[in-house]
Amino acid sequence: MSHLLEARGLRARYGNTRVLHGIDLDVDEGKVTTLLGANGAGKTTTLRALCRLMVQTSGTVTLAGSKIDALSTEQIARLGVGHVPDGRGTFMGLTTEENLRLGVSSRNNRVGADEDMARIYGYFPRLAERKRQQAGTLSGGEQQMLAIGRALMGRPRLLLLDEPSFGLAPLVVKDIFSIMRRINKEQGVSILLVEQNARLALDLADSAYLLETGRVVLSGSAAEMRNNDAVRRAYLGE
Ligand code: ATP
Repeated sequence: MSHLLEARGLRARYGNTRVLHGIDLDVDEGKVTTLLGANGAGKTTTLRALCRLMVQTSGTVTLAGSKIDALSTEQIARLGVGHVPDGRGTFMGLTTEENLRLGVSSRNNRVGADEDMARIYGYFPRLAERKRQQAGTLSGGEQQMLAIGRALMGRPRLLLLDEPSFGLAPLVVKDIFSIMRRINKEQGVSILLVEQNARLALDLADSAYLLETGRVVLSGSAAEMRNNDAVRRAYLGE
């Protein structure tokens, strides 16, 4: 079976600092794949390398069989790769709705944008209630919802999600993860998820990769990873 996204020998560096040392990974169409690993393992950098953001890269990346590793971040977005960065990338001085509208810019046309926005408000009713509120005054959870919503406005086939649980209260995290599950199941959007909380990530994911210092040291189905002794000890706190 061919994969929606395939990376082979992905390397990345910031200036002279080499961070990824040849990563192979696959994301299957319609599935949730997660990257696990300690702080500094290179998870965020992997997402950036896949969409060629802020980092020098080499290696091969294909999306639905077409090479994308020589394209710009913007071109990659137009092909259907939505990135929800850590820190969320929201424009704080703009309203919720203005931020959502910006998400359309990664599309080739704006047809259906109002329907897309209505669907996103359906997933995130709290955003609908705060349409005209400045994004800078939203809670952390609402800002995370907005960042995901904005990426969805680009109609991605693949969503790269960087630590959606970061700094949020457990109940808000639960809410956001259940919405991501719905978006995956109902819209068929594939997800590559970076998440510190391995338990949460493995509950959502179909398969996982474990990164250590810029290398994949283990991969498998979510169930296999959950049953792996090393993963249980180091990442599930058992
Ligand atoms: P975390 O969960 O802490 O974000 P991570 O697994 O996502 O960790 P990365 O953020 O990808 O890890 O960082 C991998 C390595 O790259 C770290 O050693 C980090 O210090 C380094 N690094 C990240 N961004 C830069 C940068 N802009 N310039 C130089 N080095 C960087």
